[in-house]
Amino acid sequence: MAFAEVALGQIRSLRQAAIPRNYEIWYVYATGYNPAFNKVINETLARNGKLTESDLEQIYDNYLSPIRTTERIDKLGGRVITEIDDVMRLITDALGMTAGFGNSLKGAAEKLGAAHSREQVKAVITALIKSTTEIQEANKALESRLEHSKIEINNLQHSLEAIRTESMTDPLTGLGNRKYFDRAVADAVAMALKEGAPLSLLMFDIDHFKSFNDNYGHLTGDQVLRLVAISLKQTIKGQDITARYGGEEFAVVLPNTRINQAVTVADHIRRAVMAKELKKKSTGEILGRVTISVGVSMLRCGDTTDSLIERADTCLYVAKRNGRNRVVCESDSECSFCADTQVQVA
Ligand code: GH3
Ligand code: MG
Ligand code: MG
Repeated sequence: MAFAEVALGQIRSLRQAAIPRNYEIWYVYATGYNPAFNKVINETLARNGKLTESDLEQIYDNYLSPIRTTERIDKLGGRVITEIDDVMRLITDALGMTAGFGNSLKGAAEKLGAAHSREQVKAVITALIKSTTEIQEANKALESRLEHSKIEINNLQHSLEAIRTESMTDPLTGLGNRKYFDRAVADAVAMALKEGAPLSLLMFDIDHFKSFNDNYGHLTGDQVLRLVAISLKQTIKGQDITARYGGEEFAVVLPNTRINQAVTVADHIRRAVMAKELKKKSTGEILGRVTISVGVSMLRCGDTTDSLIERADTCLYVAKRNGRNRVVCESDSECSFCADTQVQVA
């Protein structure tokens, strides 16, 4: 309600149209979730004292519009096509030039063979020098056009990479999203099986998160998800793969890691999350702490990605059932029924 009131207050005081887009802009502004977005608005207001219709439209398109990524991909696609057209034209021109030069060399050879006087030889050589100079100049022009294309292709590569990263990133937490996780875990499992290297998987889930949301609101819940992600990033490093698996579930793939080490990592994450006292910035209200439950599995011979995830999930379920705020791994006695689901070792 507080955010909603701020949003409507802004619309009123800046005399803007009370349309959904403007409401969304001011609502997000009020939450302060997106510092870059607030900065742009503050700077524009400081500079011009108001936001024009075109300012609002641009800010919305850049930061909030759900079709932003699609549009950017579209524009990028257009640039790629234009660039390919240009390069194709360059190649066609270059081929034409080389063929022309080849013909003039061939003609010169024939004329030289048939030349009977000094003057005739001189004329052939003069013509050769001319066509050589021409192709040199054409080559130089071609080189600079290619240089230009190289820069544009380089820029395109960067833009494509940025969009690709964006499509694999969870916007709320900045961690990899489910799509990223699915690919990364499949690659890591394939690599570990191929090399016979150990690999462990942690799946964790926030405890009683539904009641946290019910008590403090979904937006505060979102902040907690960010905080958990920060704790995770601070604990995990190097080649480890972290992702937001689903709503309030996270996954970590630990290549080259045996189960005992994985349990230690899991416990570090659990402690790091629990160590943070949650305080509502706007009111200073202390919200207590959240805890997580973690399930840990290790890759076996004959495993698939799904069976590995399933075992970590089963352990997570056991951790919940046995009281939450704990780490359970598949070799724990309390997880004996995980053994029933063991994949036969080849
Ligand atoms: P448990 O300890 O058994 O995991 O209890 P729980 O309440 O955390 O579990 P449950 O799966 O029943 O509820 C998950 C809740 O997580 C539901 C929803 O309120 C919350 N949640 C899921 N995704 C998001 C999100 O993106 N933002 C916020 N704020 N909450 C979310
Ligand atoms: Mg859950
Ligand atoms: Mg939960």
